[in-house]
Amino acid sequence: MPELPEVEVTRLGLEPALLGARLMDLRLGKPLRWSLDIDPAALAGLRITALQRRGKYLLLLLEPASAESPLAQGTLIVHLGMSGSLRWTPAAQIPAPPSPHDHVEWQTDRGVLRLHDPRRFGAVLWHAGDQVQAHPLLRALGPEPLGAGFDGAALCRALAGRQAAIKPLLLSQHIVAGIGNIYACESLFRAGIDPRTPASHLRPADCQRLAAAVRDTLQEAVALGGSSLRNFAHVDGELGYFQMQARVYGRAGQPCRVCATPVRQIVQGQRSSYFCPNCQKILKAKAKRGIR
Ligand code: ZN
Repeated sequence: MPELPEVEVTRLGLEPALLGARLMDLRLGKPLRWSLDIDPAALAGLRITALQRRGKYLLLLLEPASAESPLAQGTLIVHLGMSGSLRWTPAAQIPAPPSPHDHVEWQTDRGVLRLHDPRRFGAVLWHAGDQVQAHPLLRALGPEPLGAGFDGAALCRALAGRQAAIKPLLLSQHIVAGIGNIYACESLFRAGIDPRTPASHLRPADCQRLAAAVRDTLQEAVALGGSSLRNFAHVDGELGYFQMQARVYGRAGQPCRVCATPVRQIVQGQRSSYFCPNCQKILKAKAKRGIR
């Protein structure tokens, strides 16, 4: 499932191709998780002026190509869901025939972009105006883990008083944005924290360690994915999937890469958690201050 690194690598790969491109036509196939919320014909002629990312969402900012244009500015919010990927074909090449799982197609003056999504949990939505952060999907997101608003102190504040286990909270997107199952498992392993630990048990030093682990894990993955990018402005290809060497994720029963203890798999909130029962500890409740 695409998480922050996959979406960021997709953004990096598409930016040189799509920045400044003019949208000629937006074609929709089978319904996705959410509807576009505008007649796609109304977007023809808009120019892509920025490619941004918020959490796991890719944002294509669109503006009228000229000041006199009656078209309005806005943002296409792209979510890759469980299985979505974007494929770019530059104008100099002939695009492959569309597959039955290609559900959105952007025809631009630079080439063709397609959303391929076999499970159709992805979506492309239109948000009119320049305040895309106010969109219901985006406004409740926690801070960007690679941004200045996320550190140990911020994580401590967000977790204060929460009795839920730390792992599902990391997945909720409200504590920090962009983390899915793979990077939650990997970050907790790096921080040495058992995924079942109640969030309120994390002390400031634990929050510092976890925030650093989240950042390092994501940064490494983005760097790895970025290094696998070919020049997508000129080459036909699918974006955003790359192979990271997981330390615990998907390795149930295999030896921990640090201590050789078999990696355990449990289910939390209907998702598999992988962890090393030796390297990762369940943190005890913080001692309550007694009455003097
Ligand atoms: Zn271990």
